[in-house]
Amino acid sequence: MTFYKITLNENCGSSRICIYNSGCNFKCVGCAYKINPAEMAESCAKALDESRIIGILASLRPKRVHFLGGEPTSNPALSRIAKFAHEELGAVTKIGHSNGSIRMPDYIDEASISIKAYDERAHFAYTGTTNKSVLANFRDAYERGIRLEASTVLIPEIVTTDEVERIAEFVASIDPEIGFHITAYIPVPGITLKPPTPQELSIAVRDAKKHLKKVNFRQLTIEGRAELKKTDPSFCSVQIA
Ligand code: SF4
Repeated sequence: MTFYKITLNENCGSSRICIYNSGCNFKCVGCAYKINPAEMAESCAKALDESRIIGILASLRPKRVHFLGGEPTSNPALSRIAKFAHEELGAVTKIGHSNGSIRMPDYIDEASISIKAYDERAHFAYTGTTNKSVLANFRDAYERGIRLEASTVLIPEIVTTDEVERIAEFVASIDPEIGFHITAYIPVPGITLKPPTPQELSIAVRDAKKHLKKVNFRQLTIEGRAELKKTDPSFCSVQIA
């Protein structure tokens, strides 16, 4: 696992550096990274030295440092870079996207964890692995004071509306104030899974709201996703390495 790209975003009221990891320990059938083969190829072709990353952070002194994936917690340099950002720069550190399978390292302030399924068979069917560590690490992160958000992907043939409700119930059993985001599956080229209908998505949102106070959702096409990356200020970053 290597960090391969750094972006800077100054559009959201404070400077934010995003550090991107290549590689993931899951094999999700509908992984959104498969939508963009060019990004996949770039992530495999490049590697940034830990010392170079720390040098960039030291010179820019961002207010926030986010780690994105693949699965950023699988990167052995993560904890050292997070420690530098948190301790030396006083930056807020966030795992912007994690599958939750690996315990959050120290010096992480916030994390967004995607719980692919609550039912272990459904989790296996979608990711190829167990969710036991995901559920345990989610609770562990909360108990260690990490500010959490949860998410999942609604894929009616695997992660049903009932399954999304079970995930919401699990999150609410830890804290009903934790934000929960439901993403409608975006069809990945070459995969036969169907996206949810708007009705299925609204049922999932309605049922999640029975348990959690902050539920939001998004349904995009591949084209809409690409457009969002161009127009939403939170995505409009400059690549600096
Ligand atoms: S956990 Fe995320 S990055 Fe990893 S395979 Fe699944 S969808 Fe892709």
